[in-house]
Amino acid sequence: MADFDLIIIGGGPGGYTAAIRGAQLGMKVAVVEKKKLGGTCLNEGCIPAKALIHASSLYREMRSCERFGLFAGEVNYDFEKMTIYKEESAHLFRKEVREEFQKLGITLIHGKGKVSSFKKVEVTDPEGKTRTLETKNILLATGAAPRKPDIPGIDLPEVLTSVQLLAERKESIDRLVIMGGGVIGVELATVFNAIGTEVTIVEASDRLLAPMDREISESLTALLTNRGIKVCLNSKVEKIEKEQEGLSCLVHMEEAQKEFMVKADNVLVSVGRKAYTEGLFENYIPIRMEHGAIYVDDNFKTTVPNVYAIGDVTGGVQLAHVAAAQGKYVVEKMMDQAPSVRITFVPHCSFQPLSVIPSCIYVKPEIASVGLTEDEAVRRGIPVRCGKYVMEKNGMNIITRGENGFIKVVFSADSDALLGAQMMCPRATDMIGEMATAIVNNMTSGQLLLAMRAHPTYNEAIGEAVMDSRR
Ligand code: FAD
Repeated sequence: MADFDLIIIGGGPGGYTAAIRGAQLGMKVAVVEKKKLGGTCLNEGCIPAKALIHASSLYREMRSCERFGLFAGEVNYDFEKMTIYKEESAHLFRKEVREEFQKLGITLIHGKGKVSSFKKVEVTDPEGKTRTLETKNILLATGAAPRKPDIPGIDLPEVLTSVQLLAERKESIDRLVIMGGGVIGVELATVFNAIGTEVTIVEASDRLLAPMDREISESLTALLTNRGIKVCLNSKVEKIEKEQEGLSCLVHMEEAQKEFMVKADNVLVSVGRKAYTEGLFENYIPIRMEHGAIYVDDNFKTTVPNVYAIGDVTGGVQLAHVAAAQGKYVVEKMMDQAPSVRITFVPHCSFQPLSVIPSCIYVKPEIASVGLTEDEAVRRGIPVRCGKYVMEKNGMNIITRGENGFIKVVFSADSDALLGAQMMCPRATDMIGEMATAIVNNMTSGQLLLAMRAHPTYNEAIGEAVMDSRR
């Protein structure tokens, strides 16, 4: 008899969510984790990054609170104490997950897992002892690791990945060059800028947060520049050299064919993450890889019978809630249950599958997007009707002196179903959930206006944007 119904390799948001759902549905589940429960998200990603964003934003706000009639005296920060608060946040979250595991009888095994047959997982514990466990199903959720471009100087000790910056660093930085203007680069740029670091972002494409709505990218660039962050677009760091006083980065600006040097104490490399599968399979296991990630079909089955994969290791959209949703979906499918979450969805009259994935950037003001942008709808040939509202006119934004932002909504011109929304305003990361729910339920502009919205709230701006789409 098998030891378990399901063995999950990797205890990140994909792995632990699948474990919890599996146990709730009556499976006997084990999770094999080589580091700490919670994976990248909890230990080296979302939670530590957002804790530092929270602390540094508070610091920035406290320094400008006189406009509210408040005087805080001398405002200061201690990076080591910010680090302790960040670690405590991860610890508290980890404790919640561990308690849920205990409540549901999920076995947590500390060690490195390897698929040794269709139904066997070999586990090597931290002391090097190996044992083999039998299982009916195997779920791979081993995540991703930072990618490093192959340029001279990339292995210098002052050149850090987000893991090194978030999980290990205890001191602030005077001058920081960030390679990559994606979500991680932009978020960490705002953290260090708020506490006085001289920050330069070097981004290869022509805009920050490239997959986002163009107006959001442009507004964000203006906002960061205004705060003193130097943003170099169409640019690449080509070489990093160690000098007597820190590092010197050679930056090449593609279009202008210009080269210049930027001095730094540290460089953060945030140019993407690659699927992590080191030592995960015996050589004879016939697993298909695609673009360096584990290939899966629509039901997250790999090419090996009984072996499934989810989350960052499959190379799709690398977000914690995507991994978690896939974890739930795959386990519900294994148990012949109707999935409680939709991975893709075809809205009325669009006839094309749409990934309804909220995507959030925790800068101030927050940025959030779900579904189609107007540009993307045009590219796909879907006729749309759009609405926009600028936050300058919103009551709550006036009270809190929020920065200028906006909310955009995209409706199908044929069916009036909501297809997408983009926001740059306070609480955007919370409000985007309403838009995602509306999209997967094919809600129309009329339905979105049926319920009144409380006053004064940022949420009123959604109603105004929807109204604008009907004019
Ligand atoms: P992971 O969370 O990476 O977990 C994989 C786990 O598998 C790890 O714990 C690893 O130790 C373990 N493992 C690997 N190989 C083995 C093995 N052979 N045996 C045993 N264990 C193994 N996403 C968001 O949605 N929102 C955010 O705000 C956000 N912020 C981020 C900020 C940063 C700085 C970073 C780096 C990422 C951020 N992400 C965010 C992305 C998010 O962290 C990942 O998408 C998510 O953690 C992926 O979950 P996962 O379960 O696929 O893998």
